[in-house]
Amino acid sequence: MATHTQPCGKAMAVSEEWRQQWIEAVSKIRSNVSYEESAQQLRSLQQTGLLKLTDLKYNPGKFFEAHRLLARHAPNLGPGFWIRFTVHYNLFAGSVLAVGNEQQVKQLEEIQQKGFLGCFGLTEKLAGVNSGGVVNTIAEWDDQTQEFVITSPEVGAQKNWISQGLVGELAVVVADLRVAGKRCGAHAFLMELRDAKGPVPNVEFGDMGRKTVGNDLDNAWIAFHGARVPRHTLLSRYGDVQPGNGGTYVSKVKGLTNMAMIGQRLFSGRVAVAWAALTFTRKLFEMTRAYSDHKKCWIPKNSTLTEVPQLQHLYLRADETLKKLENFVGSCEKQLSDCLQKDEIPPMALQEAIASAKILASETSIDLCFRLKQDVGSHALMGDTGFEQMDFLQACKFAEGDSRILMQKLARDRVRISSPLGSSFLD
Ligand SMILES: Cc1cc2nc3c(=O)[nH]c(=O)nc-3n(C[C@H](O)[C@H](O)[C@H](O)COP(=O)(O)OP(=O)(O)OC[C@H]3O[C@@H](n4cnc5c(N)ncnc54)[C@H](O)[C@@H]3O)c2cc1C
Repeated sequence: MATHTQPCGKAMAVSEEWRQQWIEAVSKIRSNVSYEESAQQLRSLQQTGLLKLTDLKYNPGKFFEAHRLLARHAPNLGPGFWIRFTVHYNLFAGSVLAVGNEQQVKQLEEIQQKGFLGCFGLTEKLAGVNSGGVVNTIAEWDDQTQEFVITSPEVGAQKNWISQGLVGELAVVVADLRVAGKRCGAHAFLMELRDAKGPVPNVEFGDMGRKTVGNDLDNAWIAFHGARVPRHTLLSRYGDVQPGNGGTYVSKVKGLTNMAMIGQRLFSGRVAVAWAALTFTRKLFEMTRAYSDHKKCWIPKNSTLTEVPQLQHLYLRADETLKKLENFVGSCEKQLSDCLQKDEIPPMALQEAIASAKILASETSIDLCFRLKQDVGSHALMGDTGFEQMDFLQACKFAEGDSRILMQKLARDRVRISSPLGSSFLD
């Protein structure tokens, strides 16, 4: 198998042939289309079979490279298709891989063949950036019918911002499980949202409305009004419900909560988002450089815009900074890939490194691209320059853990593991 070398010098385990096929496939993606057409593009892309819904676990190198190559188009396409893609492959399929039982994981094959799309319903109106920490959607076990009844008890509990929520046939929905009146915590359900006849009963959908960028992606709010789903929809690798006598919750692996395992998807998501931010920035700088190298400018002698000192300095600084970050994110990716393939939870130090990589990559990218916009002049106001898609980085900032919330979490975890001052003298 041939290997491809990334800019940061890290060898990738994907064949050159596959790479060329993927580049060709994603070069056909368009963003000036309706969200239905955009969804159709993803259906077709997954039906090529070039990237399997299970590659996140069995071939993570391919999974990350596919994300990176797609992000190269972000300054032209904006964030819509990239988000649609990562929600389907990482958040939706990745959650099934993380907490689904053998049978449920097997379903991914059929989903891919049929070209079905999946959403990930975690965020709620009240939760926002604290999604996952706050889950007020309820899934109540009905022992009589052996179904779960999914309800949004109030407006704040309605799912919010759900990508491809207006087109997806399926969703992984996170809800607080109740069995025989007892709360069992957040669990994930792989449920149908639409069949051939349209939306399933007792689920209401609304459009989040027009965005600054990425309108080729549909974002929905979703309210559940007692939607009934069968027992097998509970992703039950780590916990299940035993029917009879009102139902009993059975934890299959001691010490592992379902929510902690759903949260595993955030690690691969954070690495993918970090790469997306850096790749967007590299490409925007490349596109701008191609313009400034040929733009004549009076400095006070005839020269090119690239030679204006502040721009020249920024190009150098951006290149050095991006190289460092690419190496850092590359190293996080490599270590995470080992954990994914061995089905292990990343050690704490790696979890922290991944969170830091995601924060650094998105915040540094926002800073560099904003400076570039200030320094390049009127060009930044023109259409098709990539600058109009800079809100791609806004999405990187809050996706898979908002920068501020992640920083607070990192600080909290540090405080928790530190010993009180002077404690060694008191022992
Ligand atoms: C295009 C798009 C696609 C998305 N796709 C999905 C999806 O498919 N599935 C899904 O589940 N979710 C999805 N989301 C939701 C996303 O992951 C975030 O959860 C959501 O955008 C955060 O919403 P908010 O900015 O309104 O949050 P808010 O909670 O209202 O936060 C607003 C701001 O306040 C600050 N803030 C809030 N609370 C605190 C606090 N306690 N301490 C300090 N600062 C705070 C934050 O820094 C943030 O910048 C998507 C969002 C968008 C925009």
